[in-house]
Amino acid sequence: NTSTPLLSVRDLQVRYGPALALSGVSFDVPAKGALAVLGANGAGKSTLARALSGLVPASTGRITFAGRDIASASPDAIRRSGLVHLPEGRGVFPGLTVHENLRMALIAAGAERADAIDRAFAIFPVLGDRRRQRAGTLSGGEQQMLSLARALMITPRLAIADELSLGLAPRLVDVVFESLERARAAGVAIIMIEQFAHRALEFADRCLVLQRGSVAWEGAASAAGDEVLRHYLGEA
Ligand code: ATP
Repeated sequence: NTSTPLLSVRDLQVRYGPALALSGVSFDVPAKGALAVLGANGAGKSTLARALSGLVPASTGRITFAGRDIASASPDAIRRSGLVHLPEGRGVFPGLTVHENLRMALIAAGAERADAIDRAFAIFPVLGDRRRQRAGTLSGGEQQMLSLARALMITPRLAIADELSLGLAPRLVDVVFESLERARAAGVAIIMIEQFAHRALEFADRCLVLQRGSVAWEGAASAAGDEVLRHYLGEA
């Protein structure tokens, strides 16, 4: 059924002990859609990402992904069903080369395809140049590229890009956005949590603004103008 959203979140509530981090959060992401999630510091963006990927439990509410209820599924089961949280929790293998790290990711996913590594090098030329270098000797930014390449080369159905550009040099921020554009073109739906609101809005087709754990605004990304950003994020 093509009208069923890939991800459907209904009345999601997350608590940290007595503190309510999310409440009454509902939204959909269609297959191949791109949703920007914006909000001031502490609004609940990372909590939402953690709840969707199974790292914190939902206290109430429903999360349906690809037709299955994942609200109480384990992070591993959620990842295997095609929902990845970037950057991945697990780091790269420092003793293996860049090329070996990419091969390991394919083997682990049971998807060893010869052209996948070449495609990763096309998207991340810096990794191609360093294919024989041990991952542990890459710079921090290069290690982030490697972990992103590993996650995207197995073409998940939905990727949550959680502040991927944080702390990266401008050149690498461009590489991150470019790699997400390519993932999208390959059919991956994206939820983008991003400090650069304007860039996230250019990338996405829908936008959700969180304020103190609730949805304060939702609409087309093109309609989230300066007024919305000023009002909810204190910027623009
Ligand atoms: P930022 O942009 O600053 O990263 P955010 O929108 O991602 O913020 P969250 O990290 O989701 O916000 O935090 C939402 C609220 O939950 C905040 O008030 C935060 O202090 C609180 N919180 C987050 N993690 C925990 C935790 N493990 N225990 C208790 N409270 C937490």
